Amino acid sequence: MSRSPTIVRTVPALRRAVDGLRARKATVALVPTMGALHDGHVSLVRVAKRRATRVIVSIFVNPTQFAPTEDFSSYPRTWKADIARLAAENVDLVWHPDVKAMYPEGFATRISPEGPATAGLEDRFRPHFFGGVATVVGKLLTQCRPDVAIFGEKDFQQLRVVTQMARDLDLGVRVIGSKTIRERDGLAMSSRNVYLSPDERRLAPILYRTMKEAATRLRSGEDVAAAMAAGSEVIKAAGFALDYFEVRHAETLAPIAATSDGPMRILVAAKLGTTRLIDNIAV
Ligand code: AMP
Repeated sequence: MSRSPTIVRTVPALRRAVDGLRARKATVALVPTMGALHDGHVSLVRVAKRRATRVIVSIFVNPTQFAPTEDFSSYPRTWKADIARLAAENVDLVWHPDVKAMYPEGFATRISPEGPATAGLEDRFRPHFFGGVATVVGKLLTQCRPDVAIFGEKDFQQLRVVTQMARDLDLGVRVIGSKTIRERDGLAMSSRNVYLSPDERRLAPILYRTMKEAATRLRSGEDVAAAMAAGSEVIKAAGFALDYFEVRHAETLAPIAATSDGPMRILVAAKLGTTRLIDNIAV
């Protein structure tokens, strides 16, 4: 039987709810989201359930990680369907602050991540992004005080940034990465996929296919620059506006010159029309 989660919208109510869980010796997992939930988010909830006795899902579309030109106001919001999905997964608590509860009048503190946040991937194209992410995730982690927090590998640089921040700031939380859930044709699930026109939707899986081809070439020892240049050409020829198609060190995100520089991750970001897609795979 599914049970509707408790929904809290203010910091004092959240504190009482988390204190209650702690008093009952629960272990707590947090899954931060911006809502518009899909099977990728649900997979994180299922990982969370295996890692802790109580699961909190936060739903907060964070204005500070969007540039003025980006899609904050049009970002898909599907509250009722989200709560139904979380009820079906027996999530205990949904933390759903409004913008004023998260950033009250006079808010003036910002976390400024370095290291993986300045690797020259997403940060090159969205310079405001990781400051906004680190600040809100820092707040979510201190507000919810979870033992573990689950993040998708789909946003691979973000996973590295949050892992580094939790370590650097002694947040006392274990950050766990969880694998990317894909549509049948390989397109990584994303709340933004609803923006794609039917023609764009048909083209979108080319990103995954091209990463897989590049991974095969790298594994067979092909020159790194040549393999990545070939993949970039395929993506551009298909009609994408390519931001980057790169192979990086999977832990440090440092550039890779030779396949022996190793464990490798291929990362891509490209626009189809007005929709920006990101994805990555292990080599
Ligand atoms: P978002 O709501 O898009 O901010 O994402 C919330 C969390 O879900 C982040 O940790 C994402 O990395 C993760 N996520 C998004 N899409 C997927 C996916 N297709 N598979 C697994 N995790 C995902």
